[in-house]
Amino acid sequence: MPEAQENVRVARTDKAYLKVIEKRQNWDNCDEKPFGHELFKHIEGMQRLQASGYDIGGLTERRNELLSGCREDLQKMETLHSPRFLDYLAEFRFPGDSNHGWSGFEAKRKFESLGKNGSNFSKDVLSDKSLEKLIMAHVKRFKDFQVSFGRHNYDLFIYSRRRNGSFLLNFSEDISEKIENGEFLLSKDVLKQQLERFKLITVDGLRSELTSCRDGCFDPDTNTVAITEQEARLNEMKTYTHELFHALSGQALIREGRYKTQKTGLYFTAGETYRFRWLNEAVTETLARQLPVEVFFEDGVYENEREIYKLLQTKGKIPIDKKLFLNAYFENYDHKLPYGERMPEWKKLSAAINYAYYPGFLVKLDNFIEANGIEKTIEVMQRDWTEIAIPKSGILKK
Ligand SMILES: [Zn+2]
Repeated sequence: MPEAQENVRVARTDKAYLKVIEKRQNWDNCDEKPFGHELFKHIEGMQRLQASGYDIGGLTERRNELLSGCREDLQKMETLHSPRFLDYLAEFRFPGDSNHGWSGFEAKRKFESLGKNGSNFSKDVLSDKSLEKLIMAHVKRFKDFQVSFGRHNYDLFIYSRRRNGSFLLNFSEDISEKIENGEFLLSKDVLKQQLERFKLITVDGLRSELTSCRDGCFDPDTNTVAITEQEARLNEMKTYTHELFHALSGQALIREGRYKTQKTGLYFTAGETYRFRWLNEAVTETLARQLPVEVFFEDGVYENEREIYKLLQTKGKIPIDKKLFLNAYFENYDHKLPYGERMPEWKKLSAAINYAYYPGFLVKLDNFIEANGIEKTIEVMQRDWTEIAIPKSGILKK
């Protein structure tokens, strides 16, 4: 039975693919639990027991453990992403130590005024009692939002910003136009299929500060678009648009026990190896910004990645047509084609980069970014790309 074989690849254009993504949607890879949910559950349990007259003394130790875990996480987030994190905090209401709690805005001001001297989440600033209240309120708020959040509701919510029709309908029309005029090498079947079948969920931005899902993310293994609650409340189409491009980008699926994505757009994964994430994000964000949505795109989102993408197109011996990047981005792996020819567009792009620079340049660039950081890479690309292609100790002399 071929189904049972390991390493079976599936093309997105296959009928069998539909079955695969239906199954994938039932998996639960994305974590939808908010920050502090364990503490919330524990305290709710304690309150129930107490109401029934039980002695809950034995449970307080665990509560304190969970509470100090939350405090540590908040301290970590604060040092990791201070300005953005404070913006998130401004969204919340704080119970505070006084009788009338302070608002998120006041909290932000208070936190900012403390400056860098010590943590805002130390016990001196925020007592255990206040922190507990804060987390309980936060989890409750997120859970309420989660109940009302759904594809239909979110579409209507965003719809208020559009001239007519729903957001997804408008998005689909914009993309169809680009398919028709040959800009996007994407089939209308895949467009329809993906827009009908992706799963949309909301996650807690406060919690995702600790994970890789920032304003939103796309999980190709479960075909799920996740938007953070904080972002969704802002009525923002830009994150949604960006994530939808990830959902539409070409994929290669491999079955290793279960189906896993090996290619999403221009991002490749194999075992522990990850390649070209920056390029994939650069192309995705560039595409999202070109759609005629009435939305203000703030600068800074994958700005450095987009800069390298631009430099990559222009700095070689000859320029590389952006069309080659887009074609490879939308290309789905096709196992019906002869072996070695199953991603012809990716092959064309690789050949063009090799020709404009040096054989294997893209992998070297990827390694260089990993080792030296993206800002340093921009500098070097602007100055002299051969510093990336030919290591100083290299065999080749300039
Ligand atoms: Zn992205």
